[in-house]
Amino acid sequence: MARRPRTGGGRAPDVFARGGWVPMREYPDSDEVDFAIVGAGAGGATLACKLAEAGFSVVVLEAGPFWRPLEDFASDEEAQQELYWLEERLTGGLDPIALGGNNSGWGVGGSTVHFSMISLRFRPEWFRARSLLGYGVDWPIGYDELAPYYEEAERALAISGPLRYPWGPPHRRYPYREHEMNAAGLVLARGAERMGVAWSPVPLATVSAPRGKSPPCVYRGFCNFGCSTNAKQSALVVWIPRALRAGAEVRDLAMAGRIELDAAGLASGVHYRRDEEWRFQRARNVVVAGYAIETPRLLLNSACARFPQGLANSSGLVGTHLTTHAGPGVWARFDEEIRWNKGPPNMAVCEHWNYADEGKDFDGGYAFMSQGPLPRAWAQLVATSQNLWGMALREAMLDYNHMSGLVAVAETEPRIQNRVTLAAKRDRHGLPVARVDFAYSDNDRRMQEHARRFMGRMLEAAGGRDLWSSEDTSHILGTCRMGASPDSSVVDADGRSWDVRNLWICDGSLFPTCGGVNPSLTIQALACRIGERIRRLSARGEL
Ligand SMILES: Cc1cc2nc3c(=O)[nH]c(=O)nc-3n(C[C@H](O)[C@H](O)[C@H](O)COP(=O)(O)OP(=O)(O)OC[C@H]3O[C@@H](n4cnc5c(N)ncnc54)[C@H](O)[C@@H]3O)c2cc1C
Ligand code: SF4
Repeated sequence: MARRPRTGGGRAPDVFARGGWVPMREYPDSDEVDFAIVGAGAGGATLACKLAEAGFSVVVLEAGPFWRPLEDFASDEEAQQELYWLEERLTGGLDPIALGGNNSGWGVGGSTVHFSMISLRFRPEWFRARSLLGYGVDWPIGYDELAPYYEEAERALAISGPLRYPWGPPHRRYPYREHEMNAAGLVLARGAERMGVAWSPVPLATVSAPRGKSPPCVYRGFCNFGCSTNAKQSALVVWIPRALRAGAEVRDLAMAGRIELDAAGLASGVHYRRDEEWRFQRARNVVVAGYAIETPRLLLNSACARFPQGLANSSGLVGTHLTTHAGPGVWARFDEEIRWNKGPPNMAVCEHWNYADEGKDFDGGYAFMSQGPLPRAWAQLVATSQNLWGMALREAMLDYNHMSGLVAVAETEPRIQNRVTLAAKRDRHGLPVARVDFAYSDNDRRMQEHARRFMGRMLEAAGGRDLWSSEDTSHILGTCRMGASPDSSVVDADGRSWDVRNLWICDGSLFPTCGGVNPSLTIQALACRIGERIRRLSARGEL
């Protein structure tokens, strides 16, 4: 059934009430709004909220639907695949990345609607990776500059976390207490303690006690398929309601296709398709926040006579230096019942190898977490990794409640040849589809090998047997890197294009290096900072 937009007529869905609505301010296309933002995910929704609360007029264009969690999200792994960006993308290179559910989301809230809620800060030294650790590249801002915005994001998302997190500089306690640990997390804890390394409950963006209209998490584990209770503090239920209250307009099912420039070479607005019709929203500033594949795609597709290589691309770097997190996994059978699907998918973490610089044969770092795949995802992994089918697969699935595993979030090096380009093929809107090319470096492979060995030892120390391993990737980042100079980066430290000064980027594309943790807290902290920087620049007349 074809979807119809839900926002319009002065209202948007109320995510907290079945069939409910909240008022929404609207702007005609012909109004030159202060900011048109493409994408309502981790970066775009956060920035929309911050800018609207600062008094700017904001229109958000979101390609996907405005979800109603209480009605749209079912406890059904198959039906909920619609939360993912499943439009065609091409994948290539020596180590092609599987594109689909493990990458990005579609709809208001973006990938945070189906994310696993892990909310970790970057190691401070990663912002100076080249100068202090000798690999990758330095960020144009330091940890100290981002720290207040990490705190702002943690409070806005009501992170439930431990009283003391064992790694990184001390910071104020998390707003909500940590969640009760599940059995899969206790496996990691037991193994870590037997090996003498630290572990911790994962700071999670799902509440451990009631918060406003959000009830506490009920530990059913459907987090990657949309949380139907609203315990999950996604951008859809945190930043978007605030943005709407502050006067932002969110247009769902509005696919941006091209950014237009005026005669002076400044962005004048966005061409977008909604209800089968191409329209043009005028804007004084344009922000691209479409995820690290769609953001470079839109910039490249906005090539014009003045910028034939695409917008913000005089450095030739748009789309390049794509990083992902390698996700080597190790799995083991335990005699006791684990029932790992109970609770959010990743409840315990070990960041030992993000903070240890000695005794390793690779640059960069990795974290790893306990796992809790639901049955369909587990069957798919067993079938594809172990090549089991028919009766053999059925028998393997009988062990489901006795399994436990660890999967790493392992940093990959930013390399120019790993990139997003435009393919000749066109999508249903007539736009060229994105092609993603990727290959691991030798360092990336050594790190994965190290992670597999270390996690395997930990599972054995915890009492696991019949170990086997798998490969995967998660989180694509870094295709429009921020930096200190126009020849080595796409945007400056504020996400502002060097070439087109009223064009901004605010999503995971900004990351110069990807660190060894999940990125969404850093994306949201960066968006809070960019919002504040824009407010200050505007106050000084420098927008
Ligand atoms: C299964 C899974 C689990 C994850 N778990 C975690 C986790 O536990 N912790 C963590 O930190 N991270 C996690 N992530 C990653 C995290 O969710 C993303 O890295 C993060 O949300 C990316 O933010 P973003 O702003 O770059 O893009 P997104 O949040 O993906 O938002 C981009 C939005 O832009 C829209 N869009 C794109 N192109 C256009 C266009 N042309 N016009 C209009 N709209 C457009 C998209 O529809 C989308 O809604 C997970 C990801 C997946 C897939
Ligand atoms: S386990 Fe918690 S966060 Fe996950 S879907 Fe259930 S209630 Fe939501």
